[in-house]
Amino acid sequence: MSKTEQTFIAIKPDGVQRGLVGPIISRFENRGFKLVALKLVSPGKEHLEKHYADLSSKPFFAGLVNYMNSGPICAMVWEGLDAVKTGRTILGATNPLASAPGTIRGDYSLSVGRNVCHGSDSVESAQKEIALWFKPEELISWKSAQEAWVFE
Ligand code: GDP
Ligand code: MG
Repeated sequence: MSKTEQTFIAIKPDGVQRGLVGPIISRFENRGFKLVALKLVSPGKEHLEKHYADLSSKPFFAGLVNYMNSGPICAMVWEGLDAVKTGRTILGATNPLASAPGTIRGDYSLSVGRNVCHGSDSVESAQKEIALWFKPEELISWKSAQEAWVFE
C-alpha cells in the first residue's frame, strides 16, 4: 500500500450512455484520489477480449465482450493510498444486487451484465490493465495542490 498506488477504472458503455461519467469521476475526486490518465475510447473486440482474458471460459464471455464493445468507454487511472482496494470498495460488489448503497454499482445499477464501471482487483492486475489501456506517455505526472490536505 502506498500513496502512489495506481488503479485502472473504466466507465463501461452503459455508464457513458447513462450520463454517469461526471458522477463516477466525482466519487474518486471527492475521496482524494488523483487523476493520472483519462480518455474516451472504443478499443475494439480484440482489446476487450485481452482485458477480460481471465474470463474467456465463462458462459457470459461473448456477451460481456459485446456489451463492452457496444459504445465508448471512459478509461482512467487514479492514484492514491490503497487505490486498488479502496477503488473496489467505491465500486461495490460485482453483482449490483449485492452492492451496498453508497457504492457506484449499488447506487447506479441492477444487473451484473450492466454494472456501469470496472475497477482493477489487485495491484498486479492494475499494472497489467494500465499497460494494456494506456501508453506510458499518457500517464501524467503532476503534483496535486490538495496532497498535503489529503495525506498526513
Ligand atoms: P468485477 O471485477 O467485479 O468487474 O467482476 P469479474 O472480473 O468477475 O467480471 C467482469 C465482468 O463480467 C463483471 O463486471 C460483469 O460485467 C461481468 N460478469 C461477471 N459475472 C457475470 C455473470 O454471471 N453474468 C453476466 N452476464 N456477466 C457477468
Ligand atoms: Mg474483475
